[in-house]
Amino acid sequence: MEQIMDNLSRLAIHTITTKQWDFPTACQKFATGGVRGMGIWRQWLEGRSLEESKTLLDDHGLEAVSLVRGGFFVSTDPVKRQAALDDNRRCLDEAQAVGAPQVVLVCGAEPGVPLVEARKQITEGIAALIDHAQALGVILAIEPLHPLYADCRSAVNTVGQANDLMDQLNSPLVGVAVDVYHVWWDPDLEQQLQRAGERICGFHVCDWKTPTEDLLNDRGLMGEGCIDIPRIRSWVEATGFQGWNEVEIFSNRWWATDPDTYLSKIKEAYINHV
Ligand code: ZN
Repeated sequence: MEQIMDNLSRLAIHTITTKQWDFPTACQKFATGGVRGMGIWRQWLEGRSLEESKTLLDDHGLEAVSLVRGGFFVSTDPVKRQAALDDNRRCLDEAQAVGAPQVVLVCGAEPGVPLVEARKQITEGIAALIDHAQALGVILAIEPLHPLYADCRSAVNTVGQANDLMDQLNSPLVGVAVDVYHVWWDPDLEQQLQRAGERICGFHVCDWKTPTEDLLNDRGLMGEGCIDIPRIRSWVEATGFQGWNEVEIFSNRWWATDPDTYLSKIKEAYINHV
């Protein structure tokens, strides 16, 4: 039993993974199941004060690992770009209030905005948030997304691009969240993780299924697909990373199953395939 608890000591689960559970239920189920870290999606904070959410986490011995998600810096419309910055500042405030050390950034893209311009807007957007992030002590975590999302979710698609951005922004408040789903295919991955070094602030796990039936909501549980997660984890940890392993799975298939059984399967998959 102790061995099992030890094996789970760095397991965190995103609230979207167990989407069937609202925040109080997820807190209770995670705690009972020996899961100590939670990646919180912002929707799960709605309907109660941030203080109440923080109290719920504390009462269950849970740590907020990340707040998901900020970003979406890209638009042809300057009014929307400004609104995104305001929303990102609120997101940083929320993260600080619940004790999450980082806000995960889905940086944004829009079909009408050329990628080069999109990346410029992303750089400017993150730069505009650094002072606020610094005042709160919350990291802005750039999450590169798989290029299949380069049309409307993110123009930052590799760890290498995140490194370029971080080099340019040159702030300890900007890091990179590495999600195996998005970066597993990259031939430069090991080298770029090395280059990211201690700027790696998050590690997200799931698996890539064949065939993938839905580009957004058909992620696999670890071990169901083709990603060599232990190898990527070893590269991440070779940089000195000792943070959480965050299970982030969007899956219509798994969401349709019994969540208690699913939580057991997540823990089993985590122990065997991460
Ligand atoms: Zn992720």
